[in-house]
Amino acid sequence: GKTIGIIGGGQLGQMLSFSAKKAGMRVIILDPNPTCSAGQVSDEQIVAPYDDIEAIEELADKADVLTYEFENVDLNALENVSSKVEIPQGTELLRITKDRIREKTFLQKSGLKVAPFAEINKFSDLEKKINEIGYPAILKTCEGGYDGKGQLVLNSEKDLVEADEIIKLGQCILEGKINFQMECSVMVGRNLRGEITVFPVSENIHRNQILHESIVPARISSELQEKAKETAVKVAESLNLCGILGIEMFIGEDNEIYINELAPRPHNSGHYSIEACNFSQFDIHNRAICNWPLPKIELLKPVVMVNVLGQHVEKTQELISKKPTWQFHDYGKGEIRVDRKMGHVTILTDDINKTLDEIVSTHVWD
Ligand code: ATP
Ligand code: MG
Ligand code: MG
Repeated sequence: GKTIGIIGGGQLGQMLSFSAKKAGMRVIILDPNPTCSAGQVSDEQIVAPYDDIEAIEELADKADVLTYEFENVDLNALENVSSKVEIPQGTELLRITKDRIREKTFLQKSGLKVAPFAEINKFSDLEKKINEIGYPAILKTCEGGYDGKGQLVLNSEKDLVEADEIIKLGQCILEGKINFQMECSVMVGRNLRGEITVFPVSENIHRNQILHESIVPARISSELQEKAKETAVKVAESLNLCGILGIEMFIGEDNEIYINELAPRPHNSGHYSIEACNFSQFDIHNRAICNWPLPKIELLKPVVMVNVLGQHVEKTQELISKKPTWQFHDYGKGEIRVDRKMGHVTILTDDINKTLDEIVSTHVWD
């Protein structure tokens, strides 16, 4: 099998590694942390910073195919090794998805709907643009944010006093807040032969802007599910996608689909696919970047996935020993911190509502 080099060794790298090894591929991880999640299960780890030019050259020399598990990869470092190793995802996908303004501009040009937005570089831009966008709005840094970090919700003029804290972090985007009936996501995979495979729609429930639960299939009409999947295919084609892409969407009160953001990699809301589908999002990513043919995805059973953050670890470990059908994934992260994603639980079920009630009754996620 091929040797896959992955920049980044977090849980996504770990689950990519498990999947790759199952398919007979070898994996080399680049991560500065010698005890990172993925390093523990890979064939080899290069311990160095993500943007270390020499380390990326070493990874390129040793691997047949280069990929990444997060979008803030150094583009120059990748371009520097593009003659040494296959980078089937290219660098354009990263260039677009690492910057919120570039991403939304691209989506709009592709004929897709996004929240109204404006570029903010200084406080006076915000004073001007907030009148166009209106309240409530959200101010976000263009690059590097996750789990709602680097964001400020603006409900009224008095919230503007906190805006400088965000603006000083770098270029920002001001987004109108979408009135949504549901947040959902779709994982889509594509290889360079142009074969596309789409996963079922996941309904996503966030707490404090961090994904809490994913429910699949999403509890919306089949028409809306089809519309969400068609949107995902359109995005994949517009991007000339290779690999897996996570598409976060809002289903508006108006039944229109607005794209929130793109993740050019496996996505937390797609973890359910490990147990609930014939192939997981990680399997599809690895197959796609190796240019293997892609299977049609089937949902084998409805499923709920719950995230286990630092504050849930102790109670979860106690709980799963009592739940015969709950599957716990421990990412093997050393340091337990509040709100840090430490693992997740997957529950296959014939009765979603009953399972959701059961999750509540454990009091683990209170
Ligand atoms: P992630 O961890 O998914 O990468 P992030 O830090 O990039 O998160 P976003 O996905 O942009 O953050 O926003 C986090 C959450 O805030 C969204 O899932 C959604 O609940 C809410 N949100 C963000 N932007 C909007 C918007 N324009 N309208 C309504 N809700 C929004
Ligand atoms: Mg994000
Ligand atoms: Mg998000």
